[in-house]
Amino acid sequence: MNRRNFLSNTTMAALAVAPVTQLFTKGYRPLADPKLTMLRGNVGYYTNRGGTIGVYLPGGMPEGGVIVDTQFPEAAQTLLRMLKEKGELTKLGVLANTHHHGDHTSGNPVFAGLAGTHISHERAKQNLIDNLAQKGEEDSVALPSTTFQGSWSTNLPGGKESVSLNYFGKAHTGGDAVVHFENANVAHLGDLLFNRRFPYIDLGSGGDILNWPNVLKDIRRTYNKDTLYIFGHAADDYPVIGTSSDIKAFELYLKSLHKYVKKEIKRGTSLNDLKKKTGTIPGAPEWKFGEQLRNVNLEAMHKQLNP
Ligand SMILES: [Zn+2]
Repeated sequence: MNRRNFLSNTTMAALAVAPVTQLFTKGYRPLADPKLTMLRGNVGYYTNRGGTIGVYLPGGMPEGGVIVDTQFPEAAQTLLRMLKEKGELTKLGVLANTHHHGDHTSGNPVFAGLAGTHISHERAKQNLIDNLAQKGEEDSVALPSTTFQGSWSTNLPGGKESVSLNYFGKAHTGGDAVVHFENANVAHLGDLLFNRRFPYIDLGSGGDILNWPNVLKDIRRTYNKDTLYIFGHAADDYPVIGTSSDIKAFELYLKSLHKYVKKEIKRGTSLNDLKKKTGTIPGAPEWKFGEQLRNVNLEAMHKQLNP
């Protein structure tokens, strides 16, 4: 969130040489301050290094908490230490991974041993297994012990909150779950939403940039106008929480990208020329942060429109 922290010279030098996928999965906000913010109904979020973590901390019930995503080991350790100091956590009812990417799962070993249930979408678990095998890091990250396909829910200890996981189709990856705290009415969208930041899209893991806006529309219709959303990532100086209007804005970005690339393909613009001439996407000027991923967006759209 903090631009000053983000833009140190050394960080920028590292950004300039790292391949874009590696850059993203290793986390692009290495110098953030750890911060735990409560929203409502004992649900809150934690920002440090990597995708936003969602938390449910039932007051006086330190064994019934929920953690959604785990960032990286040190960031997860810091959160665990903060929660233990507050007396808020001894055991977890549920540990959920919204999807398999390293900036959301590398801290799994910190929390998995505390969790009664560790869950993700079944494709996310497979993606995680495949990714770790590719890197020769098979045993480095705790895998979900439970998976689901369409939806899954459970009542949490204490009887005051239920958590549900829903799958809406291919988008950022092929296995993105939305984690909804039903009574608090707070939903963690994982990387289905990049707030005013060019999104990463992982076609190799089943992602679908053409279907992504449909998924967002379904999400808006499934939850309601009072739902508060937690986002995986945001541009510097933009919040990692928001409402359905932010989902609508991101839908508009993806639709504008589709329209733009389609038109340029028709005009005979090559992918290289398209990358060279593109600044912001016409119709979605707010998306100008995370420039390293703009080309990934153009490539993914180009590939899906020109299979
Ligand atoms: Zn991701």
